[in-house]
Amino acid sequence: MKKILLLGSTGSIGLNTLELVRAFPDKFRIVGLTVNKNIEELEKQIREFSPKFVVVTDQSKAVELKKKIGSSCEVISGEGSLTEITKRGDEYDILLSAIVGFAGLEPTIEAIKQQKRIALANKETLVVAGEIIINLCKEYGAELIPVDSEHSAIFQCLTGEDKSYINKLILTASGGPFLNKTLSELENVTVSESLNHPNWKMGSKITIDSATMMNKGLEVIEAYWLFNLPKEKIEIVVHPQSIIHSMVEFIDGSIKAQLSRPDMKLPILYALTYPQRLGFEGVITDFKKIGQMTFFEPNFDKFVSLKLAYDVIDEGGTAPCILNAANEIAVEKFLSGKIKFFQIPELVKDALDNIKTIRQITIESVYECDLLTREYLNKKFS
Ligand code: NDP
Ligand code: MG
Repeated sequence: MKKILLLGSTGSIGLNTLELVRAFPDKFRIVGLTVNKNIEELEKQIREFSPKFVVVTDQSKAVELKKKIGSSCEVISGEGSLTEITKRGDEYDILLSAIVGFAGLEPTIEAIKQQKRIALANKETLVVAGEIIINLCKEYGAELIPVDSEHSAIFQCLTGEDKSYINKLILTASGGPFLNKTLSELENVTVSESLNHPNWKMGSKITIDSATMMNKGLEVIEAYWLFNLPKEKIEIVVHPQSIIHSMVEFIDGSIKAQLSRPDMKLPILYALTYPQRLGFEGVITDFKKIGQMTFFEPNFDKFVSLKLAYDVIDEGGTAPCILNAANEIAVEKFLSGKIKFFQIPELVKDALDNIKTIRQITIESVYECDLLTREYLNKKFS
């Protein structure tokens, strides 16, 4: 029985994880759940999964929840509450890190210090602090298993392989909802068009990232840290059907791929059970119904975010942190109708051009850069 602490339980990854816990009651047990505000969904989850404790980051929502559930479960809130529960190392075996954005960093670091298995969905953690995270995992002996479908695919392809035989990683990208739009057509796309992803049902931030293809850019940085390869060995290929989740080409030209119908339950389950697999019939792939699989070059002129993401790898230091914070702010502004779609990469570039990169990457410099970038961009809207 594996005890799971699930951060971000009301999100798309969180709900998929709970479906798996429901499917395997004798294999997984939920000990803690966390949300930002959505106490209606959390209340249902508490009744079904009986966690020992929950975090509601929003303090007034936490008070509301306490009134509803009484003393049936400990409710923690406020600054530092996510770290407080991840410090309870005796209570859990696996941290499922599925909060969206920079907020996922601090509790993930704490779980590494607790020497836990980290099933990592929160890619932003590796984007902003990849070097720190990888070094901490080595220092504390924590296991970092990717949940992101592309990285899970590569991780699965590499199992049993000698890494010195890798020629390159091939990250597949669906291309998002605007794959076939021209640059000028992108000027007036709406929020609801941008949220309409063809293959995946995900939270709104990552769905917009998929539409700008910043998501793939963040994933290149994520792969760079996870698999310790130069960026020249991390290639992107557009594959609109999202059946091949990614591939590894070896030095003899042989290519391994991991395939399935697009459903996050598979990479989540693998991260929970690795190196074992569990019999599961929830995601069956019928090739007779897929028809065809196609592949294209990504368009770096149309999806500027991709280029920005490759560039910050060279820049190093806190440059990826600036890129991430600026992107989070830009996506938020787009979702609230304050900017147009094409302005998202413009804001990111503006921040990268105007905020000084700190070469020496430390936890303090990462926090400083994140804050500076948010202040810099928010000022433009005040
Ligand atoms: P969602 O937006 O669906 O869910 C986010 C979760 O985090 C919710 O439980 C939300 O609570 C909580 N949350 C949001 N902001 C904060 C905050 N500031 N502090 C504490 N909790 C917060 O996101 P997804 O599930 O789509 O994505 C989660 C992560 O996984 C992201 O990093 C994403 O990039 C990554 N990922 C997601 C995939 C997917 O298929 N969805 C695929 C690959 C990676 P509340 O409901 O109360 O707002
Ligand atoms: Mg992905």
